[in-house]
Amino acid sequence: MDFEAVIGLETHIELSTVTKMFCGCSTVFGHPPNTQVCPVCLALPGSLPLINRKAVEYTIKVALALNCQIQSFCQFHRKNYFYPDLPKGYQISQYDLPLGRNGYLEINTEDGTRKVRIHRVHMEEDTGKLIHSGLTGRISEAQESAVDFNRCGVPLLEIVTEPDLRTPEEAKIFLSSLRNLLQYLEVSDCNMEEGSLRCDANISVRRGDMDELGTKTEVKNLNSFRFLSRALQYEIERQKKILAKGGVIRQETRHFDATTNRTTSLRSKEMAHDYRYFPEPDLVPLEISDQWVDEGRRSLPELPGAKRLRFMEGYGLPEYDAEALTSSRAMADFFEECAKRYHRPKIISNWLMGDFTSLLNATDTAVERSKVTPEHLTEMLKLIDEGVISGKIAKSVFEEMFNTGRMPREVVEEKGLTQIADEEELARLVAEVIAENEKATGDYREGKGSALGFLVGQVMKKTRGRANPELINRLLRERLGGS
Ligand SMILES: [Zn+2]
Repeated sequence: MDFEAVIGLETHIELSTVTKMFCGCSTVFGHPPNTQVCPVCLALPGSLPLINRKAVEYTIKVALALNCQIQSFCQFHRKNYFYPDLPKGYQISQYDLPLGRNGYLEINTEDGTRKVRIHRVHMEEDTGKLIHSGLTGRISEAQESAVDFNRCGVPLLEIVTEPDLRTPEEAKIFLSSLRNLLQYLEVSDCNMEEGSLRCDANISVRRGDMDELGTKTEVKNLNSFRFLSRALQYEIERQKKILAKGGVIRQETRHFDATTNRTTSLRSKEMAHDYRYFPEPDLVPLEISDQWVDEGRRSLPELPGAKRLRFMEGYGLPEYDAEALTSSRAMADFFEECAKRYHRPKIISNWLMGDFTSLLNATDTAVERSKVTPEHLTEMLKLIDEGVISGKIAKSVFEEMFNTGRMPREVVEEKGLTQIADEEELARLVAEVIAENEKATGDYREGKGSALGFLVGQVMKKTRGRANPELINRLLRERLGGS
């Protein structure tokens, strides 16, 4: 039987506002436990919440960038449940009147551009954090648990897709496009290690010829791209096996365990009525005027799709390059800074997609934290153009700059990497190489053109890559005769 997977994602994003959603406490990550708390976020009796205007503005921006309809009248609701990381006994969230609805995000898959529909975008507050002592960090095996309320009340954005994704690969592309968009909007750092971007998935499987959806499970704890793919792969296979045997999928919430790569049942799925939602009586409804929406629209930066087109048209870059460079705002900005200082965009692009990206990946460094700046790269490119260093040497200069942050001229001078431009010196090395390589020289004279490449390589070796290969080529040919 042919099965098709149906996936929807629910992402939670911590907004990078200075203060929390309903009080003035700081949102900075990593401070000692319970130092960023007040009566409001600790839910002490008599305290009253106040809506963070900035968080609403950020949410409007995100909803607009995701092509959502903005609700002019929206409201906060109480979502009631008991858990030790939630001192109020309820979370202030949005229910039937979310800020944004019915949007979409375009993603680029191997099969072309696809629209993934966005069901809703709403605001809520984060919970505190439980720390379970014990080897596994899971509550079932813990001796004791501690609670940190610093995160309690941090503004959260929830973005829910329609079940439009079909493969783990597509889900990954969606999440990475969404993260890229949010980083462009500068509303969150989307740091997955620090929990600023968290993802849950709804997964069901159906026979290829069916229209209706199968029973879904919700998988939690997909907090890296790798976990997301692995968890989806596992869960899809698990459901297929059950259905193939004629079994039934139970609607439930499952936990992904990254050490075993499996999902395990956590609890039967809650229904909305389990949460006894009701309008938050301590907050007035939120009216979002057209003027406020217009301000949000005007404040939107150039978004990735538009930037990609401009990179192709304005700089004459191939689509592949434009896509790679705009896949993060930091990289796109880096490129544009370089392009202001150096006039050959394609050369810049080659270095950024090649050496720069591989060094960033190898050292797990973010573009923003790189020691190489646009000044470094463009000065180095000028040194190549001026014939001071060869393209080959430039690779090691680049690596040195990347590791130390020193300027290219310094590196070149200190390491004696300048290109040998002295023809006499090169001619002497050419003569040496000819004398040492009788066989290759003979081959070349007998018409074997490829032998020349070998001889050029030998001269380059003697200069430790500091010669201009074209010049050596010419000198060798002059010396050996022939064309
Ligand atoms: Zn507080």
